[in-house]
Amino acid sequence: MPELPEVETIRRDLEPLIVGRTVERVRIHPGAERLAVTDAPRDLERALRGRRVEAVGRHGKYLLLRLDDGRTWVMHLRMTGSLVHASADAPAHRFERARIDLDDGSTVRFNDLRKFGTWHLVEDPLEAMPNSGPDALSEEFTPAWLLGCLRRRSVAVKAVLLDQAVAAGVGNIYADEACWIAAIDPRTPASRIGPTRAARLHAAVLQTLEESLGDRGSSFSDYRDGLGAQGLHHVRVHVFRREGQPCGRCGRTIEKRRVAGRGTHFCPGCQRK
Ligand SMILES: [Zn+2]
Repeated sequence: MPELPEVETIRRDLEPLIVGRTVERVRIHPGAERLAVTDAPRDLERALRGRRVEAVGRHGKYLLLRLDDGRTWVMHLRMTGSLVHASADAPAHRFERARIDLDDGSTVRFNDLRKFGTWHLVEDPLEAMPNSGPDALSEEFTPAWLLGCLRRRSVAVKAVLLDQAVAAGVGNIYADEACWIAAIDPRTPASRIGPTRAARLHAAVLQTLEESLGDRGSSFSDYRDGLGAQGLHHVRVHVFRREGQPCGRCGRTIEKRRVAGRGTHFCPGCQRK
């Protein structure tokens, strides 16, 4: 699933290409009707036609297209969605679910193998992002905030990191990577993490997100940036999908276990409970 670095890379790619552009036509293809959450597909297509894009923002894993009528077009890529800017005559991807034609003759294609992606058209973006806490790269996400979130919970640290109310934008890849960087076992009960380790974990979250952003995200499966290219960070991860390989810090074999309902990768040698 695209997480914060992947969605932010797409945002940065699309921003100069679509801000100031007017939507000439939107087509949600047959079979992709579930993409449209707030309106029926034809109504959503009609509502978006003629709107100018004024800004492209992001909160957590949500892309926020602010329109000239004051409303926000909120997009979530879920498991396999991607948004790719392309010329009008570029052939459709096999899993193209929707197409946006802009007034400069270019297009944005929404490709999504699994079809879990969502579009909301709302007055207030918060309507589309219930239970979303501070963005993990915002000033509101602080060591004290993270410590407060960990203290109140008896679940595994991994579960707290995956909670979008705690650090919006962190998903399975970067939760595992952050735990490794902080040398914390992801299975550790959250309430056992004190101020020192919480501060280390907070710094680790920022580090892994920023490093991946510098690599334009990770392409473990379907992720493509706003221009259709892969990210580069998946070859630089420490533990994610590296089970059976040696830990780069202590040499022990990296393990994969189910934690918080998700496949979780960690080193049993240097990540402590
Ligand atoms: Zn290790």
